[in-house]
Amino acid sequence: MTPERSAFRAFVDETVAPRADEFERDERIPDDVYKAVGAHGWWGAVVPASAGGTGFDMRTLAALHEEIGRGCSSLRSLLTVHTMGAYALYRWGSAAAREQWLPDVVTGAARMAFCLTEPQAGSDATMVATTATPDGSDFVLDGVKRWITGGQVADLFLVFARTPRGPAAFLVDARNPGVSRSPISNVLGTRASMLAEVRLTGCRVPGTALVGAAGAGMLVATGALDLGRLSVAAGSCGIIDACLDATVAHTAGRVQGGGLLRDHQLVRAKVSDMLTDLYAARELVSRAARLKDAGDPETINATWVAKYHASTAAMRAATDAVQLHGALGCADGHPVNRYFRDAKVMEIIEGSTQIQQVTIAEHAYRRVPAANASGGAR
Ligand SMILES: Cc1cc2nc3c(=O)[nH]c(=O)nc-3n(C[C@H](O)[C@H](O)[C@H](O)COP(=O)(O)OP(=O)(O)OC[C@H]3O[C@@H](n4cnc5c(N)ncnc54)[C@H](O)[C@@H]3O)c2cc1C
Repeated sequence: MTPERSAFRAFVDETVAPRADEFERDERIPDDVYKAVGAHGWWGAVVPASAGGTGFDMRTLAALHEEIGRGCSSLRSLLTVHTMGAYALYRWGSAAAREQWLPDVVTGAARMAFCLTEPQAGSDATMVATTATPDGSDFVLDGVKRWITGGQVADLFLVFARTPRGPAAFLVDARNPGVSRSPISNVLGTRASMLAEVRLTGCRVPGTALVGAAGAGMLVATGALDLGRLSVAAGSCGIIDACLDATVAHTAGRVQGGGLLRDHQLVRAKVSDMLTDLYAARELVSRAARLKDAGDPETINATWVAKYHASTAAMRAATDAVQLHGALGCADGHPVNRYFRDAKVMEIIEGSTQIQQVTIAEHAYRRVPAANASGGAR
């Protein structure tokens, strides 16, 4: 284990995991945890040190998100969207926006949320209907964003909207009088991630709020989502790890059918699948992160593959973990109950399992042009 991962692990074991079920019950991450993450500089992990951040490489970032995900998927989700926003602000934000926001974003004093999804625009982002109408040097935004992680508490929204020149991304101050938000509670999983619907009504922002050029919104969304996908893949590894630990501990102590559960071969089969899936998922995440660090464009596909495998493996591991805990695993407040519900969310966010299958298959066909040309008849 690298020294960085050991530090992440110790933090999670001390500060996050013991309270994760309390966070979930309260449907919020308390301020002291936000501050503790900030004290380590992890809200700014993706921003280079030269710009005030911590400047982790992608492998270290993935290790951080795996460890946080092992303890609490809600906190990891909040870290994911903040990281995506911080990255977009640093990479494509105007000089004025960076000067205004970056110092507080890297410490977590300003919390960011990512606003792409709308009631009618989910997997298909081309259906975004929110408009950004130019008015002098300003833009006026109108529309509704739904399922926004951290939307209840965010100080700064990264909002995607249509302009006459095409899709664009904007930074919207939550104090803008054109912003209103309503909490979304009792979701299946990541219950402490403080989801909200965010409504923009005649929401006027200056031209400097534009992130990237008008028309370059998809580029910003794709770049941020690629990072978010790596984070969710890593967080899914954390869920598998947590499921494995809980299952090993439980089956090593419970006697049924004349012996410890751990000594039944059918139980061992599930435990070995969990461990194998964990190692495979970690390797895929590590490959995607390494390619990012090397600036290799193959990282995009590698990240899809990593997220597809890790999130589906997390769902398998959580299903087996509940199964092997029996009724205990179904009990309200038991961690494996939470892992199970959180794992399902991992299969939906940052590109659903089906969207990943479609995308990965498309990549497979592009990789082998001869197979396309022959029409499959050989
Ligand atoms: C807990 C949570 C947190 C979230 N946080 C955020 C956030 O912070 N910001 C944000 O912008 N959004 C967020 N979302 C929204 C999330 O990104 C969307 O739910 C996701 O993109 C899927 O969109 P949808 O729910 O509208 O499902 P749909 O797109 O309607 O899909 C429904 C089903 O159809 C399948 N499907 C869709 N298209 C195809 C296709 N072409 N081929 C085959 N199958 C297909 C999907 O896989 C899915 O199973 C969050 C969602 C959840 C649950």
